[in-house]
Amino acid sequence: MGLVVASAVATPFANMPLQPIPGYMTAFGTAMVVVNFLLATLLYNRGVAERNGDLIRLATAYLFVAVIFVPLLLSFRDGFVSGSIIGSSGSSVWLWCFWHLGFVVSIGWYALRAKRNRPAWPISAYIAVVGAVVTAMTLLACNGLSLLPPVVPNGRTFFAAPYTLLPYSIVLINIGSLGLCLRHARASTTDLWLSVGMVAACFDLWLTLQGTDRFALGWYVAKCGSLFTSLTVLSSQLYDITRLFQVLARANDGLQLQATRDGLTGLYNRRYFDEVIAFEWAKANREGTSLSLLLVDVDWFKQFNDRYGHPAGDECLRAVGLAFRHLVRRPADIVARYGGEEFVVVLPETDSVGARHLAERMRRSIVALDIPHAPSDTGVLTISIGCATTRHPGVTSLKSLVEEADRALYVAKERGRNRVCTVDEIVADDLPDLGPRTRQTSGLHPAA
Ligand code: GH3
Ligand code: MG
Ligand code: MG
Repeated sequence: MGLVVASAVATPFANMPLQPIPGYMTAFGTAMVVVNFLLATLLYNRGVAERNGDLIRLATAYLFVAVIFVPLLLSFRDGFVSGSIIGSSGSSVWLWCFWHLGFVVSIGWYALRAKRNRPAWPISAYIAVVGAVVTAMTLLACNGLSLLPPVVPNGRTFFAAPYTLLPYSIVLINIGSLGLCLRHARASTTDLWLSVGMVAACFDLWLTLQGTDRFALGWYVAKCGSLFTSLTVLSSQLYDITRLFQVLARANDGLQLQATRDGLTGLYNRRYFDEVIAFEWAKANREGTSLSLLLVDVDWFKQFNDRYGHPAGDECLRAVGLAFRHLVRRPADIVARYGGEEFVVVLPETDSVGARHLAERMRRSIVALDIPHAPSDTGVLTISIGCATTRHPGVTSLKSLVEEADRALYVAKERGRNRVCTVDEIVADDLPDLGPRTRQTSGLHPAA
């Protein structure tokens, strides 16, 4: 609406001379090259990523504008240098016509084929076509002026009779392309802003034809309109990219969470535990601090499932996980589900006394949940916990830390379950002598 009002107001004053700004055309042309080249690059990349032939065809229209602006600027009289670098001022008028004609035709071509899932050619083919077309147009405008109708013959209008209507035919083609674009205007933000840009292009053409004089009001406003035509679509692409960043960041957070969490209990998973324990082990060695590990196993859980069913078993594991989460609260501590009904707690900078203390509180908290477990001796759900700490002589490697905690858990089970056992409390009699390589374990650590 603003465009219509601005153009309607500017039309009667289109030829009103304004203060000449000598570098205006150069700055405008450079901006057109940069903006359209950026836009074409964004659309090509997006088209390839989304396998969308429409976007690749649309990109080609903006690439054409970026490329044709090079000879247009070079031929523009007194743009970069006094006079024209190539051709003459007549060449720049013709290149202006070719620019608008080529742009509206390629946009019309895009709009005609849009949303029909037409595959695109390779991008190099589009670039080659743009290069060939612009070269042909430049040669014609610079070396073949005699083959074309004369321009600015009366010093006022681009064309005189019998060619007066020639530029207006470009306006008509532009309106036709706009009509085609409007059919898809609601399909995407790109199409919506493309339609707005095409409205701007219509007024740009209209005003240029009303005020052909350089540095006239119509001339200045039309240049802004040209830039606006591409800036609308460029802004829509930047907006979509910003949205994409937000969506990606959220999806990444979600994936990160999924990769490190256990789906049933919401605790950290085995994978994360493996990462953390390796890191904490190295840190404890480096800094000479204690690192404790608790292995937790729910007692008689197979019987629990058999008696109450698997869904109740799952609910029970969730309740156990929640109880652990409430108890283990130090920022560096990690509770993870090791697998099945087994949990593991990593306690950096914690000695065996502290670890045992926490383990005992965890054991009591599960008893306090008072979850009925008829087949168990206690009548309620219980857990057994094995603790190991780096200071123990048997703990010489990360693997042995897990093995020692596993040994302690085995002893806790052997001593009647619903209890905590640390490696310090194990006496030789607790373990059956099955030979050095085949020692029986709780089953948590198959390597033991
Ligand atoms: P123990 O006191 O010696 O640990 O006996 P247990 O029955 O707990 O040990 P066992 O290893 O024989 O059985 C573990 C059971 O845990 C077997 C399996 O049905 C159950 N379990 C493992 N993962 C899940 C799970 O995700 N959901 C449910 N509901 N049960 C599970
Ligand atoms: Mg088990
Ligand atoms: Mg168990």
